[in-house]
Amino acid sequence: MPEPSAAVLERRIDTLKRQIVALGRLRPGTLSQQYNVCGNPTCRCKADPPQRHGPYYQLSYTWRRKSRTHFVRAEDFPQIQREVANYERLRALVGQWIDAALEIARLERQARHYPQEKSDGKSRRARKPKRRGR
Ligand SMILES: [Zn+2]
Repeated sequence: MPEPSAAVLERRIDTLKRQIVALGRLRPGTLSQQYNVCGNPTCRCKADPPQRHGPYYQLSYTWRRKSRTHFVRAEDFPQIQREVANYERLRALVGQWIDAALEIARLERQARHYPQEKSDGKSRRARKPKRRGR
């Protein structure tokens, strides 16, 4: 596959920006679920086999160097799950944006060093090495 040109990469970045704008609510963190035992010695959570209480949903996250964990109500779980997924998607899209930006910068450096080359990358391998005039 030929390398993408700077123009292709610029279009890719435009697409990434539109995808970022379209993201819904964001929430950093990791959701987990847990089952608990209580303090009542005759409760079903002490039976054999135990029927522990739950599930309880928890969200843990670290943001601006502060770590927090809080419970999430079962009815809020689907929405928060979507927000967490949006946040992960944002990070993935930003990563792709940066990949494309670094590649554009590389192509521009290359074009400065070999100004006669077009940066479409199609025939780079086949091109003759640059000759120094004398
Ligand atoms: Zn119990």
